[in-house]
Amino acid sequence: MKKIILTGDRPTGRLHIGHFVGSLRGRVELQNSGEYEKIFVMIADAQALTDNFEHPEKVRDNILEVAMDYLSVGLDPQKTTILIQSQIPELTELTFYYMNLVTVSRLQRNPTVKSEIQMRNFEASIPVGFFCYPISQAADITIFNATTVPVGEDQIPMLEQTKEIVRKFNATYGETIVEPDILLPKNSACLRLPGIDGKAKMSKSLGNCIYLSDSKDEIAEKVRNMYTDPNHIHVKDPGQVEGNTVFTYLDAFSTPEHFSRYLPEYENLDALKDHYKRGGLGDVKIKKFLTAILEETLEPIRSRRSELEKDPEYVRKILLDGTNLARETASETISKVRRAMKINYFEN
Ligand code: ATP
Ligand code: MG
Repeated sequence: MKKIILTGDRPTGRLHIGHFVGSLRGRVELQNSGEYEKIFVMIADAQALTDNFEHPEKVRDNILEVAMDYLSVGLDPQKTTILIQSQIPELTELTFYYMNLVTVSRLQRNPTVKSEIQMRNFEASIPVGFFCYPISQAADITIFNATTVPVGEDQIPMLEQTKEIVRKFNATYGETIVEPDILLPKNSACLRLPGIDGKAKMSKSLGNCIYLSDSKDEIAEKVRNMYTDPNHIHVKDPGQVEGNTVFTYLDAFSTPEHFSRYLPEYENLDALKDHYKRGGLGDVKIKKFLTAILEETLEPIRSRRSELEKDPEYVRKILLDGTNLARETASETISKVRRAMKINYFEN
């Protein structure tokens, strides 16, 4: 079977290093692997409106920001179709048909939705649109016949829900929709990168991010204030590595080359961790190392981005072309769906 990718992001802010390790970095690798026939990357503005409906300008302003982040990490519009969700009306139609296949109690059990409802203080009154976003996400994935969905760990329940909808649809109306599989990052530190506060997942909504577009000084400042081990007070004290944000980020970002370049006295990350656990290694040193790695990783992204910022028309054109191309596939799928559901009244 041909392999097709669908993934995306909500335009609720610039993209951060959690997106980078959880999804963006992998997308670029998959794009360049040549193994995929088509790759769709969606800017999920309609989904962003489900919890930002009072702030349409925020969503609008971030469309171009997210698109520039995509291009600056290396997504290539020749190989990857970048599209804007709301401009594909077939998605709304498919979502409406899928709604018949999901129960309210099933939506209520979705753990990601549960925690997001809590985070947004929606407990007392949940907007129906927000509650249903996992269904619209199932439409996003399946309208493009995606076989593969590269995302972070918080998306596992969404993929489960999507698979259930696909099975129900195909069992009810005949084999029509492709069942997708999730593709998670292999490195466990990248599944759900914590915020710089060390508490929850790094998330635009929580303001605990290092953004791909942060300046060198902003990165250094954020790492300087980063949560480590609160009991590691003096350099000589033994320190804890688990739950220590600096080490989690080193797990996600450091390579053997970084060690030979910046810390040749350590063989690898395990040796650095061992020294920290024994005592005698200060937070300042590990933070300097992390700052250097992040700067080395983000500098080329930042400089490509500053070029793109000079030419927003170029970025807008990529979005328009990508959206038009994606719509062709969406309308083919919708025709199949209507046929399967016997609502193709005017078709010969
Ligand atoms: P919001 O707060 O608006 O939900 P977000 O920061 O959670 O924003 P999304 O647009 O919801 O970002 O997520 C886009 C993609 O990035 C998803 O595949 C998600 O799994 C992944 N992702 C988001 N945050 C992280 C993180 N901290 N670590 C790893 N992957 C992440
Ligand atoms: Mg999110």
